[in-house]
Amino acid sequence: MKDCVFCQIIRGEKPAEIVYQGESVIAFKDIKPHAPVHILLVPKNHIRSINDLADEDRPVISELVLRARQIAEELGIRRSGYKLVFNVERGGGQYVFHLHLHLIGGWETTSVFV
Ligand code: AMP
Ligand code: ZN
Repeated sequence: MKDCVFCQIIRGEKPAEIVYQGESVIAFKDIKPHAPVHILLVPKNHIRSINDLADEDRPVISELVLRARQIAEELGIRRSGYKLVFNVERGGGQYVFHLHLHLIGGWETTSVFV
């Protein structure tokens, strides 16, 4: 997937503010944050969207979610709270077609809905 922007970041061909890098998942700051904390967690394998997951991708999805919780803790928002969002295909607001989990939070109030 040469032209995929997230694959380019994974290969180190495009700069990103990487906050975590593991065997199967990378996490970096969203370039256009919607909140004080906005991190994208991305599987290193190119998977288009949630719709394209195979049974053998179960471990990578649990890694995305549990790693998001760890990053939330490191960024000091575990207790205040955060959102974890998968946008799925165009109708679900997906614009980058490489699966990613948004970790969003850090607002001062607890009553923000986006
Ligand atoms: P989605 O709408 O779920 O596909 O979200 C894609 C997200 O990727 C958006 O929030 C973009 O701001 C973000 N994004 C796009 N290009 C980059 C990039 N080069 N580095 C970091 N974030 C990016
Ligand atoms: Zn990709």
